[in-house]
Amino acid sequence: MQKTTNIIHSIPVDEATGSISVPIYQTATFVQQAPGINKGYDYGRSNNPTRHALEKIVANLENGKAAFAFATGLAAIDAVLKLLSTGDEIIAVDDIYGGAYRLFTHVYQKFGIKVHYVDTTNAENVLDFINDKTKIIWLESPTNPTLKISDIKKISAIAHIKNILVVVDNTFASPVSQQPLGLGADIVIHSGTKYLGGHSDLLAGLVIVNTNELAELIKFIQNASGGILGPQDCWLLIRGIETVTLRVERQCSTALQVAQFLLQCDEVEEVFYPGLPNHLNHEIAKEQQNGLYGGVVSFSLKENTEEVATKFVTSTNYFKLAESLGGVKSLICQPSQMTHKSIPREKRLQSGIADSLIRLSCGIEEAEDLIGDIEQAFQKINSTTIIHQ
Ligand SMILES: *Cc1c(COP(=O)(O)O)cnc(C)c1O
Repeated sequence: MQKTTNIIHSIPVDEATGSISVPIYQTATFVQQAPGINKGYDYGRSNNPTRHALEKIVANLENGKAAFAFATGLAAIDAVLKLLSTGDEIIAVDDIYGGAYRLFTHVYQKFGIKVHYVDTTNAENVLDFINDKTKIIWLESPTNPTLKISDIKKISAIAHIKNILVVVDNTFASPVSQQPLGLGADIVIHSGTKYLGGHSDLLAGLVIVNTNELAELIKFIQNASGGILGPQDCWLLIRGIETVTLRVERQCSTALQVAQFLLQCDEVEEVFYPGLPNHLNHEIAKEQQNGLYGGVVSFSLKENTEEVATKFVTSTNYFKLAESLGGVKSLICQPSQMTHKSIPREKRLQSGIADSLIRLSCGIEEAEDLIGDIEQAFQKINSTTIIHQ
C-alpha cells in the first residue's frame, strides 16, 4: 500500500452509522451504566472518540505505537518536558523554535531543568555535553528559519548508548518527508498548526511515541495536565491530514524551484534550502527526507538591512505577510522583526539569522506565479531605492 492510500484508509468509517466522515463528538461527559462501567469513555478530558480517531491516524502517519493530541504544538512540547524531574538536563539543537526556547528558559529553568544548546549539524558535538543527568536530546531538522539539518540516525545511536531519549520536532519536515521514529528517535512532536492542518485555520499539537511505556506516561500527563485538543479541531485536523501528501509534495517541488530561482537573483546574498546541493548537510537531508526538502525557503539580501527586507515582505501579492507556515496559501515573514524579534540581535546573528533574512512558506499556488511574485517584489524595491537616491 502506498502512503496516500494508507493515510486515507487509516481514517475510519463510523461503525454505528456508516458515516464516511469521522463524527464530531461534541460532549463533555459520557453516561455510564454503573460507576466505572461505560462504553470506553467517561470524561472528555480523558478521552473523546473524535480525538481517539485522530490519535490513531497520527500514530499510523508517523509509524508510532501511539499518538496524543494537544491544543497547540507548544502544549505538546510542554507535555514531553513533564517527563523530566528537577536536576535533569536536555541537549537541544541551538537554533530551536523560539517558543520552545522560551518555554525551556522562562518556565522549566526555574524548576531546575538545564538546557545545553548545541550545534547538532555535526552529530559528534553532542558528546561534549552528555553526562549522567542528560535525559533528552531535542532536535529539529530542518530548523527554523535557516533550515539546518541534523543526522537523526547518528545522534539517536549516540544517545541510546546512554539511555537518553531522542525527541524530534518534525514540524518542518512533516511525516510525508521524514519519519524520525524509523531513524531511531523515541518521540516525535508536531505543531499540527502547520503542514498537518495545512489550511492555516486551526492550532494543534501532537506527541507520537514508539513504546507502550512512553505512551502510558504521555497519556497520563495529557489527562493530568489537560491541554487536550477539542473535538471540533480534531475533526478539522483529520480533514487536513486527508490531503497532506498531495499538499506537501507540491509544496516541496515548488520550494525547490523557488530556491533555484533565488540563487540567480542579483539582489540575493544567500539561499537556505536543504534541497540545494551546496547546503551543508544536503546529503543527509536527501537520505532522511526521501528527497522532499520541505516547503520553506529562506534567503538573505546583498543589501543586508532590516529596512530593505521590510520593503520586500510588504511588496509581495501572493506571499501574505504572516507568521506560521505549511498552509495552502503562501506566507512570507521577516524573522528579525517577527518570529525571532525577542532574541537579542547578537544571538540572532550568531544563529545565522541576518537582519535581511526573509522566510518563505510556499503554498500550493503554481510555482510560476510565486516566482513571478518574487520578481515583481524585487522590481518594486529596486525602483523605490532609485527614487530615494
Ligand atoms: C509552530 C511551531 C511550534 C509551535 O506550535 P504551535 O502550534 O504554534 O504552538 C513548535 N515547533 C515548530 C518547529 C513550529 O514551527
